[in-house]
Amino acid sequence: MAPSFEPFFAAVREHLGPESVDTTPETVARYGANLLPGGDLPPSGVVYPASAEHVQAVVRLANTHGVTLWPSSTGENRGLGFKSPVRPGQVVVDLGRRMNRIVEIDETLAYAVVEPGVTYAQLYAELGRRGHKLMMDTTSGPPDGGILGNTLDKGAGYTPYFDHFGMSCGYEVVLPTGELLRTSDGGLPGSKTQHLSKYGYGPFLDGLFVQSNLGIVTRMGVWLMPRPPVIRSFFFSFPDDEDLGDIIELVRPLKMNNVVPTLIKVTSDVYAFGTEESYPFEKTAGKTPLPFEVRKELREKYGLGSWLVSGAFYGPSEEAVQPLIERMQAHFMKSGKARYISHAEAEQSRVLKIHISTFSGQPTADEQGLLWWRPGGGATWFLPATPMVGKIASEHQALSRRILSEHGFELAVEYVCGPRMSRALHILLYNRQEAEERQRAARCFLALLKAYAEAGIMVSRAPLDVQQEVMGLLETTPEVLSRLKRALDPAGILAPGKYGIE
Ligand SMILES: Cc1cc2nc3c(=O)[nH]c(=O)nc-3n(C[C@H](O)[C@H](O)[C@H](O)COP(=O)(O)OP(=O)(O)OC[C@H]3O[C@@H](n4cnc5c(N)ncnc54)[C@H](O)[C@@H]3O)c2cc1C
Repeated sequence: MAPSFEPFFAAVREHLGPESVDTTPETVARYGANLLPGGDLPPSGVVYPASAEHVQAVVRLANTHGVTLWPSSTGENRGLGFKSPVRPGQVVVDLGRRMNRIVEIDETLAYAVVEPGVTYAQLYAELGRRGHKLMMDTTSGPPDGGILGNTLDKGAGYTPYFDHFGMSCGYEVVLPTGELLRTSDGGLPGSKTQHLSKYGYGPFLDGLFVQSNLGIVTRMGVWLMPRPPVIRSFFFSFPDDEDLGDIIELVRPLKMNNVVPTLIKVTSDVYAFGTEESYPFEKTAGKTPLPFEVRKELREKYGLGSWLVSGAFYGPSEEAVQPLIERMQAHFMKSGKARYISHAEAEQSRVLKIHISTFSGQPTADEQGLLWWRPGGGATWFLPATPMVGKIASEHQALSRRILSEHGFELAVEYVCGPRMSRALHILLYNRQEAEERQRAARCFLALLKAYAEAGIMVSRAPLDVQQEVMGLLETTPEVLSRLKRALDPAGILAPGKYGIE
């Protein structure tokens, strides 16, 4: 069915009010913008619902008029999509502008219920207003990013509550046919446990709504952690690129035995100093990638080595956590190469303080300095899994360095380590204003994707412009998802193509 945009927008105005639609060229351009090599993806307009009932009306009208929709909550998905839809012409449903209430905070059972527009900064401020008795997990990305949107993209943070999908409980979802579904125990009228009993009764449905196009989530429960009285980070700097294998071997038992409660970050030099510096073209005679000598000079400027290891302990007092920090010193010093950096010392450095913030559930804008490492502000995330085995991590490092360097880019990576796997956050930074560099970044991304896939390694999340290619790597899954899509969205109105699901 050919889309009829004008009658659709007129009907939305009639049902939701005149302020609920914007099709002006400036708005369309703003919502089409992203940081990816694939280019901007302008929608045909933006609608602003104020309630789940409004979302139901929009979805029903989309079915009537053959219009496709793209849900966005806060639209801060920088380096993965930002505000733009996966295909031009999809109508952005901006849930965040008018649905941005913290519906509830239960301080006894430690959870919040949020609407799509609630940002990390907003929840942090509200918890602060209530005396910081509870702590949320946060990303190291934009503080104006949203708790619900990040969870639905399988985003993650760094505290023990890092797994945002795992720590969410009970969704309210508008299905593509307009019905309202409440997951967990929410289907029971008057349910008192929708945000407590994650798996509910029967098959677990919540997973259908993450990284998918099977529903628009209008409300979500998120679990919070009692804020510990004392949070103390530890840092170790390692001098050489080759140290990565040893570091991973040292980190694995700490996570496997649950000695360290946070995830442990292993941050590369460029990822660390790139938050403060921009590419020093004057020192490289305009050449890329960054020569080793200049990289070393910049490391030294920030007191860094090739790798920065960080994590944190929580406890009732300084005295309680000090022995744990000492245990870390003894553990990492065994390598003979580590240099210890204390929490107090790290607090004096903007580069290191980012990690203290994220281990403390405090949003920070400082990591976004990375977006200006190269002029032109282009960024795209490559997010493979690396098994927690030193030898494999070393092979992955070599593979990434080679491919990035062949394309004129440097390795900016953070291995975020759990017991068995680390998520290797590669940020590919490039000049989006230069057509040649944009195309080179696109080729580089695909080369990384192919090389890792050939090594049996998948990514966890993908930028909009490659979601189709990434889904194409999987056997059987795309067909199963298409069958689910046809069953739940027979007219195909909700974000066709998102995560490669048609
Ligand atoms: C320097 C830097 C550091 C970063 N660090 C992190 C990090 O530590 N962890 C991390 O996870 N990310 C990180 N990011 C990536 C990104 O910026 C964040 O994940 C951000 O929170 C996501 O954007 P958002 O919350 O505004 O979600 P949105 O842009 O609103 O949505 C994200 C996705 O969810 C879908 N969606 C949104 N709302 C709904 C809905 N109601 N129903 C159905 N689908 C919906 C959207 O279609 C989109 O695909 C970082 C980015 C940068 C630049």
